[in-house]
Amino acid sequence: MIKIKRLTKRYASGVTSLENVDFEVQKNEFVYLVGPSGAGKSTLLKMIFRADVPTEGEIFIDNFSLKEITQRQIPYLRRSIGVVFQDFKLLPNRTVFENVAFALQFLEMSRSKIRRQVSQVLELVGLQEKKDQLPGELSGGEQQRICIARAIVNNPPILLADEPTGSLDPDTSWDIMQLLSKINTRDTTVLVATHNRGIVDDIRKRVVALENGRIVRDQDYGAYYS
Ligand code: ADP
Repeated sequence: MIKIKRLTKRYASGVTSLENVDFEVQKNEFVYLVGPSGAGKSTLLKMIFRADVPTEGEIFIDNFSLKEITQRQIPYLRRSIGVVFQDFKLLPNRTVFENVAFALQFLEMSRSKIRRQVSQVLELVGLQEKKDQLPGELSGGEQQRICIARAIVNNPPILLADEPTGSLDPDTSWDIMQLLSKINTRDTTVLVATHNRGIVDDIRKRVVALENGRIVRDQDYGAYYS
């Protein structure tokens, strides 16, 4: 599903954030990307959804090389990849429902289909009852649920999450990671960059560890530290 070949990213500043990274993620896998701050986790995720481009190497999504992608095809790629960040980036003056429906407005979809799809995803993340509230009226965990709903409302085959529990307390973080696991069982390949050692150790999945831009460990059912 995602194939990364000899990926290197060097910034103009001279910093090399990824060096010769090689790995593959199969369809419907769940992968934690771990490693200290500055290891290159965000850079890697950004390149997968084409928010940045590699200096060398290649990324394939479903055997399609991102090198070949044209400017016009980028929106289609982004539609097949849901993205969740640590900071919620929600529209503060729109309701929960409107925040989730926002991305669907650009697709050719009837209002009733949008309503149905948003309701289904709000049910999945447990926010159906709060659909008419504004994000600022909800807790941090609930706001992150809105972001997850927004990322998956279009049923993308891939979900990327960059420190999704970074600003949440331990119990809420646990709930959010369980939700990501549940989404994974619904035919979605999930990659999560995280510092959350407790969760990685408790909800065991494949662990890919980065250090100084290189993969230092790739382990099924791994722990945060080897
Ligand atoms: P992580 O997500 O693991 O904390 P990042 O991918 O954010 O790490 O960063 C990896 C390295 O690349 C860091 O040294 C960071 O300072 C550098 N870096 C990230 N983005 C840029 C940028 N736009 N310009 C220059 N250096 C960058």
